[in-house]
Amino acid sequence: MSAASATSGAARAVRHFEMPRTIAGRLRVLRFTIARRLVQFGVLLAFFGTLHWGWSVFGRPLLAGNLSAASVAAAVPLADPFAVLQMLVAGHWLATEVLVGAAVTLAAYALVGGRVFCAWVCPMNVVTDAAFWLRSRLGIGLGDDPLRLPPRTRYGLLGLALVVSAASGVAAFEWVSPIAMLHRELLFGAGLGLTAALGIFLLDALVLRHGWCGHLCPLGAFWAFVGRVGQVKVAFDDASCTRCGDCVKVCPEPRVLHFGHAAANGMIASGECTNCGRCIAICPESSLSFDLRARIRPGAQPTSGGTR
Ligand code: SF4
Ligand code: SF4
Repeated sequence: MSAASATSGAARAVRHFEMPRTIAGRLRVLRFTIARRLVQFGVLLAFFGTLHWGWSVFGRPLLAGNLSAASVAAAVPLADPFAVLQMLVAGHWLATEVLVGAAVTLAAYALVGGRVFCAWVCPMNVVTDAAFWLRSRLGIGLGDDPLRLPPRTRYGLLGLALVVSAASGVAAFEWVSPIAMLHRELLFGAGLGLTAALGIFLLDALVLRHGWCGHLCPLGAFWAFVGRVGQVKVAFDDASCTRCGDCVKVCPEPRVLHFGHAAANGMIASGECTNCGRCIAICPESSLSFDLRARIRPGAQPTSGGTR
């Protein structure tokens, strides 16, 4: 955090987050985490139930396919735009349905914030959150990590995936994606998915904090570009913030919580924010809330109706 960014709110007494003692208080703190798990497992269950138990809606498969290409009720096509981009640069001509599916998915995530996929849908997020929880429990700090990488490494890997796709004629990241492997394993029960997930768990827990999602994943990097135009943002109330820094400690992408930028924009503007809600849940001053970009005015208090 820059010195300039630490001025506003400095005169106010600094309180820090304390986990409530009551069950209701704890559930309130964990509300976004619980909601994210319900969505993640709900999506997985919809795929699984359609595949194995024939779940349907109006006589049509509920959610058929996988994270790369799927359809809802055989009526709404969905496709991973990053996978589609790789196939296009690899020289493959794609069916109109796939292109429409990519456009639908892109539009949906542009609305809710690109990296909502990371925090709310991607099955690997459960693994990396578990690794972060273990680190916290064991007291493993950033200084204990044997590896340092710049977070922008993922953008280099995104570019590399496109270059290799163009050179090889195949969608390069899709061939090695641990996310796709894990999803396939969870659906079909065979493959290298659990091995890949274990490797990422160990990487995040013991080698590099937020190693996969925060430094290496090219799919997360792709969604970060989309997140720049996301319409659901974390609004920031500069007047009430005491700069306690508790939000930075829980954030999986701590660079996005730059108080100077947040005060100027009235929100966490970075596309790298995953809209996970952790910062909102623990802020002792309720200075953060979910709100629509269109309702946020730079330098103003969050509009009433934002979700805290
Ligand atoms: S926004 Fe962050 S730094 Fe400001 S009061 Fe809330 S938790 Fe503390
Ligand atoms: S700024 Fe808040 S919502 Fe965004 S990634 Fe960090 S903790 Fe999650």
